[in-house]
Amino acid sequence: MVEPYEIKDDTGIVLEVLAADDEPQGDLQGGPQGETVGETVGDTGGDAPSDIVPMAVPDAQAQAAVSIASRGSWGARYPDGDLTLTGPAVEVFVHHSVTAHLSADASIAAEAEQMRALESVGQSRFGTGISYNVVIFPSGRAYQGVSWNRRGTHTGGRNSTSRSICFAGNYETTTPTSAQISTAAAIYREGKDRWWTRDAPLRGHRDVSQTACPGRHLYARIDDIRTGSGSTPPSPGEPDGLVVDGFWGSATTRRLQQELGTTVDGVVSSQSVYWRDANPGLTTGWQWVSDALGSRVIAALQARIGMDSGQRDGKIGPQTIRALQRHLGTPVDGVISRESQAVMALQRRLNAGRV
Ligand SMILES: [Zn+2]
Repeated sequence: MVEPYEIKDDTGIVLEVLAADDEPQGDLQGGPQGETVGETVGDTGGDAPSDIVPMAVPDAQAQAAVSIASRGSWGARYPDGDLTLTGPAVEVFVHHSVTAHLSADASIAAEAEQMRALESVGQSRFGTGISYNVVIFPSGRAYQGVSWNRRGTHTGGRNSTSRSICFAGNYETTTPTSAQISTAAAIYREGKDRWWTRDAPLRGHRDVSQTACPGRHLYARIDDIRTGSGSTPPSPGEPDGLVVDGFWGSATTRRLQQELGTTVDGVVSSQSVYWRDANPGLTTGWQWVSDALGSRVIAALQARIGMDSGQRDGKIGPQTIRALQRHLGTPVDGVISRESQAVMALQRRLNAGRV
């Protein structure tokens, strides 16, 4: 078998170790490597039958609360793991990649480039493409690595029975962003009874291997990811209060849905992916698609803030954002930036029960 691949710091501490498992186990169904992914050209990774983006599931009941960009979106070029896994995982591991640490306002293009770099590492070492199942950047955006039902090379000896959530960067030296914790929590929750068993524990790679992975700053947040509470702790004296942080994620959507009387699921469904990159303050729970149909909570918001009935299409965009900013009395620029003043104002109003 191929020797594990270790990434060490200057003092010799093993920050991350990647390793392949020896043999298929139990009722796992193997297959010729690369069977589902074609050759090393274009975005053939997107053709793998297992490469289903959760948000693309047509059944409304199966709608994901978090969007994960597909393998094709970042240009996967190599095999999607080495074999197909049947049945859900029994453990979930948190990792860090110890590759370039991008800033929270990095572009999607820069993140895609990092995904391809990560893929090259796994490919050159094990010949089976990217090692991790999902990779989350400081922006809070998540990308599919090795598909949920394909075996990667993330947690040596347990690759067949676990799945991996990887934070891009080095968290021995840097702290994760709240957007990352929030996305990871949504994915961990979303995967229950789906990609892993309901009771599958969330653990750090260092719990089972000789490595510092996922780094002390991230390891300290695993309970927050598990409980989903770290990114949205209730404010003192306000048990149900939103944190006023200017990021519009699932928690803010959930409160808005309660306020506006639409289905309360924390998801803004079917929004145009065209506006995603321009609005980095829109974080978890936004379902970005190419053919947007709009969502009821946005349509209800458009009505609440006084937009004409002809303009209530249920889709976020510059026109709706401007109208919202005018309604809230914040600067009108048509964009939801990080730590957005408009979102902070919206969160304050939600906490006060008057949108
Ligand atoms: Zn690791």
